[in-house]
Amino acid sequence: MLVLEDVNVFYGAIHALKGISFRVDQGEIVTLIGSNGAGKSTSLKTISGLLRPKSGKMTFNGENLAVVPPQTIVAKGISQVPEGRLVFANMTVIENLEMGAYLRKDKAEIKKDLQRVYELFPRLKERSSQLSGTLSGGEQQMLAMGRALMSKPQLLLLDEPSMGLAPILVKQIFSIIKEINESGTTILLVEQNAHMALSIANRAYVLETGKIVISGDAKELAASEEIRKAYLGG
Ligand code: ATP
Repeated sequence: MLVLEDVNVFYGAIHALKGISFRVDQGEIVTLIGSNGAGKSTSLKTISGLLRPKSGKMTFNGENLAVVPPQTIVAKGISQVPEGRLVFANMTVIENLEMGAYLRKDKAEIKKDLQRVYELFPRLKERSSQLSGTLSGGEQQMLAMGRALMSKPQLLLLDEPSMGLAPILVKQIFSIIKEINESGTTILLVEQNAHMALSIANRAYVLETGKIVISGDAKELAASEEIRKAYLGG
């Protein structure tokens, strides 16, 4: 579905992604793990078109993504939940969710998807008329995920969904990510919480200073001594 080959991305003189290659197949949960500054967020921003690769190949369903303008990438079926959530604070919960569907015309289907988001996140239904800026951190994470789902993506990009959340909420968010995947959405998950990410992913790539240093089956990586030492706290 998504293929990156030898992608190089720069911030001015800073070489942030140094020839990275990875793929996400339809139906999978793939996770990119790695410590601070490894290039995880940069990878997602490159896929969603906010950053442009200087060289390399990037395709989605066989189409060259590197030449598609960012506003068209959502219409192609890729939706990103950015780090730090970034909901529209002065709009209500339901207005935020409706914004997620702004490119769609299928009113009946939009209504169904709204019900589906409310089933996944009953808290959002309870708070539908509350201003989003007054939601708790966990509720804002739910809203950002719900808003991304309202575009009916084929591929959902999640940037650190566990950041700043209490452990019990982290568990809940990860079980919802699994549920979203089981109902047909492919997921690329960026996480510092390697333990949780590996527990739900099919495959994983480990990034270190802009390069992929290890890749493989998520369960095998979770069991590997090297990964345990470096990323799972021994
Ligand atoms: P974290 O887990 O801390 O968010 P990350 O793996 O997501 O880390 P990135 O945000 O992708 O890391 O950053 C990769 C590298 O690019 C870092 O060295 C960072 O300092 C650099 N970088 C990121 N954004 C910019 C920017 N706007 N200008 C210059 N350098 C940047």
